[in-house]
Amino acid sequence: MLYFFCRHLRPFLSYMWPFSTKKTVTVPLFLTNTLSGSKDQFLPLVAGRATLYSCGPTVYGPQHIGNLRAAVFADTVARALKAAGYQLRRVINITDVGHLVGDGDEGEDKMAVGARAEKTTPEEIANRYATRYLDDIKALNLDLSDIHFPRATEYITQQIEMIKTLEMKGLTYKTSDGIYFDTELFPSYGTLGNQKEVVQQAGTRVSTEGKKNPRDFALWRFAGPTDLQKWDSPWGEGNPGWSIECSAMSRALLGETIDVHTGGQDHISVHHNNEIAQSEGASGRPFVRYWLHNAFLTIEGAKISKSVGNVHTLSEVIERGFHPLALRYFFLQAHYRTPLSFSWEALKAAETGLEGLWKTARDIKKKSRGKASSSPYAIELRSIFLDDLATPQVLAALFKALGDDDLTIEQKWGLLTEADALLGLSLMEPPQDAHIGLEDLPEAVQTMYRERVEAKKQKDYARADELRIHIENSGYRVEDTASGPLFTRLER
Ligand code: AMP
Ligand code: ZN
Repeated sequence: MLYFFCRHLRPFLSYMWPFSTKKTVTVPLFLTNTLSGSKDQFLPLVAGRATLYSCGPTVYGPQHIGNLRAAVFADTVARALKAAGYQLRRVINITDVGHLVGDGDEGEDKMAVGARAEKTTPEEIANRYATRYLDDIKALNLDLSDIHFPRATEYITQQIEMIKTLEMKGLTYKTSDGIYFDTELFPSYGTLGNQKEVVQQAGTRVSTEGKKNPRDFALWRFAGPTDLQKWDSPWGEGNPGWSIECSAMSRALLGETIDVHTGGQDHISVHHNNEIAQSEGASGRPFVRYWLHNAFLTIEGAKISKSVGNVHTLSEVIERGFHPLALRYFFLQAHYRTPLSFSWEALKAAETGLEGLWKTARDIKKKSRGKASSSPYAIELRSIFLDDLATPQVLAALFKALGDDDLTIEQKWGLLTEADALLGLSLMEPPQDAHIGLEDLPEAVQTMYRERVEAKKQKDYARADELRIHIENSGYRVEDTASGPLFTRLER
């Protein structure tokens, strides 16, 4: 009861209470912390400020929509911290060296794999796909205003320095192929996500010659004859292990202890436990106060991943005629800790929902002339959002409030302003309806459409399908709905 009062009613009442001395309403933020295993109230290290580090893309190819779920999740966390009143400093790293195909110490460097596949250099591959990643996250309306995007190759010196510190503290040892972290000397290794046993079990299947313990991991690898990326170091030419970049870059840009660290669930067992061991081993201080992890985007039960071969990209989503924000809306319809199953039908349903919301927003914007006023609903939306980023519930509450006849049109516009800051769905500038009439199509496309109608009448479905593809290749999509044909201009 007391819990309910504190979490939901207190901020709401402090808003309503006419004699409240508070000018702005502060709503507490609660986050599910993988470290504690519970939902904890967020309290920053330094009052009024928060630091956020998110594991970013390995730029050896285009990011798939699963990776983009992690990016939208990191953005949602940032929006929550801002909505809770914190000034934010944040980092998303760009991995352009060190991430091996096996996610641990096995296999080739992903950058080398990408470079070979596209017959070019790792640098060229990194530039190409870092740019593409930035384009993707812009299209998904991530708030980029305060993000640093450091690249691992720009922080080799800091990585070497950190390995030297670990070496000085006696936490490393040398094998024939590199410098390893000795997890035996870091007793809490594996604590994050309670991975002790899992890591050990995984370890027993993997054995790298010279490793004392299968779960020990490489900090520095000696260069082999085929390595495309290598740097000088106190241990000879080589390249960094994957996880050391996150430890070194977060320390360089955000300090020894950071407030929040995000990433996908797949990173808990190895990458994030390694980051903790390195950072805490080097500094002797806690590394991260709140670890947050998003669940997977799946297709038919399988995690979307390049190795499974079930990937789709944002370009593909756009080529199929979807607005990129339909994908963002699709992600937000599920809680970040719930696995989400992707299908084109489900994305279509999300797009229909978003277009309905945009239509309402266009209408309210026009009638209110963009004038906003406050309402208790706005604080309610924020309280729901700040309760562990409950985005599906925020959307439900928003729809309910927009349908409330007791609200003035200005209050509804105020509500959309609040919702947009939390969700980033372009509600302030709802895009014009992409759907158009037959008469808006170019003459040639109209002819193709009429021919298609005829083909369907004759039950020549193969020809009808062929014509649909021709229409799509001309930049338009036609769908047969219960209320007649629906034409959409495809974004290019
Ligand atoms: P990577 O480029 O492999 O380092 O991944 C970038 C981010 O995407 C990491 O935070 C991963 O945990 C996350 N990620 C990878 N696959 C998925 C997926 N299918 N669903 C959600 N997040 C994912
Ligand atoms: Zn990382």
